[in-house]
Amino acid sequence: MEDCTFCKIIKGEIPSEKVYEDEEILAFKDIHPAAPIHILVIPKKHIATLMDVTPEDSNIMAKILESIQKIVKKLGIEENGFRLIANCGPASGQEVMHIHFHLLAGRKMGPKIIS
Ligand code: 5GP
Ligand code: ZN
Repeated sequence: MEDCTFCKIIKGEIPSEKVYEDEEILAFKDIHPAAPIHILVIPKKHIATLMDVTPEDSNIMAKILESIQKIVKKLGIEENGFRLIANCGPASGQEVMHIHFHLLAGRKMGPKIIS
């Protein structure tokens, strides 16, 4: 996807602070962190929203969760815990139309929502 910010990050056309990478998944620091640890975990395949996921993406979705576990262990935040958020569609405030999971940690989170 030519106009997609996250596809550009995957291709290295926009710099990012990578935290984890394998053949199918990339994780990098959010440019506007909402917590001391704020990482975006994305599939390298361009999928616009959670509602565009199809059965053929099952493997990728499972790999996202596996990579999140690896990142959490690598950062040593397993015990303290973390929050995972995925926005979908206009009402959620999704800005980048490439599936991403916000991994937030390093502070006490509010009762329910990201902000
Ligand atoms: P959304 O609101 O779509 O769920 O979240 C998009 C996130 O991507 C935001 O938290 C925003 O700060 C982050 N973001 C947008 N553009 C860039 C970028 O070029 N680099 C990085 N590292 N993060 C970005
Ligand atoms: Zn994309």
